[in-house]
Amino acid sequence: MPMPDQPPPAAVLLSIGDELVLGQTVDTNTAWLAERLAQLGLMCLRHETVADDRDLIADAFRRAARDTSEHGDGHGLVIASGGLGPTADDLTRFALADALDVDLTLHDESLAHIESFFARLGRPMSDGNRAQALCPDGAAMIRNEAGTAPGIRAVLHDTPIYVTPGVPREMKWMFDHAVEPALRDAATAAGQTPDTILTTKVNTFGLGESDAADRLGGLMARDRNPTVGTTVANGLCSIRVRARFADPRQADRETQATVAQIHERLGPVCFGRDDDTLQAATVEALKTKGLTLTTAESCTGGLLGAMLTDVPGSSSVYTGGWVTYANAMKTERLGVPSETIEAHGAVSEPVAVAMARGAREKAHADLAVSLTGVAGPDGGTADKPVGTVWIGFASAHGDRAFLAKLRGTRQTIRDRAAKCALQLVRFHALGHDPADIQWITPAAATV
Ligand code: AMP
Ligand code: MG
Repeated sequence: MPMPDQPPPAAVLLSIGDELVLGQTVDTNTAWLAERLAQLGLMCLRHETVADDRDLIADAFRRAARDTSEHGDGHGLVIASGGLGPTADDLTRFALADALDVDLTLHDESLAHIESFFARLGRPMSDGNRAQALCPDGAAMIRNEAGTAPGIRAVLHDTPIYVTPGVPREMKWMFDHAVEPALRDAATAAGQTPDTILTTKVNTFGLGESDAADRLGGLMARDRNPTVGTTVANGLCSIRVRARFADPRQADRETQATVAQIHERLGPVCFGRDDDTLQAATVEALKTKGLTLTTAESCTGGLLGAMLTDVPGSSSVYTGGWVTYANAMKTERLGVPSETIEAHGAVSEPVAVAMARGAREKAHADLAVSLTGVAGPDGGTADKPVGTVWIGFASAHGDRAFLAKLRGTRQTIRDRAAKCALQLVRFHALGHDPADIQWITPAAATV
């Protein structure tokens, strides 16, 4: 179904604070608000971050109200967060009054709320806190049950403006309790039924972004509904799906159909949806098949074990394992023959296999996975450059190894190596071909 012709109502998000402009605090409010607005069918025209400067903030309010009112066809919206605190650098309420060209008046009810807050704490109230009860004339205060600073609602160029505190917990409370209900009421009063927007992500590991895009092909066409896009973070490639339909059931149906097509085209590298993690998917696969796992780690120093034990309930499938960093430990604890280490080096196929085999025997586990590699930044050689990681794998069906040639910092290499091991275990448990994990190559011979 094509997208509706009408432009969606347009919003501008303002985040206010020197610490945001300086990069000392990451602006999480905007990301959260943009996602919530999208769910309500509201697209953002832009996000703007403004320093604690009265004139700059006032100007940002004026431009935001004017632009949203023009682009949104009279259905604009501005939401600002930050600068409502009690200190001298909290100037948002004064800047809003400037933009509205009005004075500020003390709001008795808000003052009483702030006074009672301090009375409960048994602390004296400062003049700054008193100033938090100042309201631009003609605007309305929004109560704040999550903190002291009330929010403000005003109208400029026919555009509603909501100002919320910067503290993320207070901003979210105010959005849920004041902003969203007001937006819904306004839409109903105008006889609008906003489109339903559904978003989801299909998470993959083991396929590069451009290869994923090639396989997705026409699913990624810009004019498709649902839209499909890719994002890479921490080695995981996520396929984003966004459906927009008037009928909520159709939005759900089309989303599910697109997700199914993504799975069809990308195969078992898809391990989960939305916030699902690779380690949780691996634990789930082991549980489903009733298999236990142990680990023998060298270059990852316990990272793989930490990832597995991050998953609640992993104790039913993960026995624990070994961190054998020094060669002597590989020999003493896992029975890796010292001659093998001498002949091939610690980072080698035979050592990876011997580590996995030894761990499996000692832990009496169904499966064992081992990691030995060069995480860098030093220690690389011509035939074993930084990023060379051997992954050993032992099961009742035999023992073998896989080679991963990874790139990046020490941290990245260790993280990707652990994730390769997780996906390998998951593939084995579910009976998939490990050759489909792009980052690892099965060794030619079984040792
Ligand atoms: P303020 O309302 O400006 O006094 O901000 C209160 C607290 O919320 C400060 O610790 C800010 O760093 C934090 N904060 C303000 N704006 C944001 C934002 N956009 N994202 C995340 N934290 C923020
Ligand atoms: Mg501030």
